[in-house]
Amino acid sequence: MMPDDVCIVCAEPLTENRATCNQCGADFHFALRIDVPAKDCGDAWIDDEVQALVFGCNRCLGRMEPAGERRRYARREQTGARAVARARRGRRAREARGDDAS
Ligand SMILES: [Zn+2]
Ligand SMILES: [Zn+2]
Repeated sequence: MMPDDVCIVCAEPLTENRATCNQCGADFHFALRIDVPAKDCGDAWIDDEVQALVFGCNRCLGRMEPAGERRRYARREQTGARAVARARRGRRAREARGDDAS
C-alpha cells in the first residue's frame, strides 16, 4: 500500500516543508523557509496571468522527464522579454530622431 505522504518527485516521506503542485495536484518537497536547509523537489513562481504564486513539481517542470509544461512557460517568458526589448528600442529611436530635429 502506498502511503499518501510521499513526495511525487523523489518518493521519500514528506516533511512540513512541502507544497502542492498546481499542475498535477501532488505534494512535493519544497523549502518554505530559506534559513532552514530543506529539500527542493520543485519550484514556485508568480504567474503573470493570475498574479498568484503557483507551485510546480520537478516532474511537471520537466526536470526529471520530458514534459510540455516547462517549454510553454519558457516560451512565454521569452516572448515577454522580446516585447520589452522591442519597446525600449522603439523609444530610444524616437528620442534620437527628436534630438536630430531640434
Ligand atoms: Zn522529494
Ligand atoms: Zn506536478
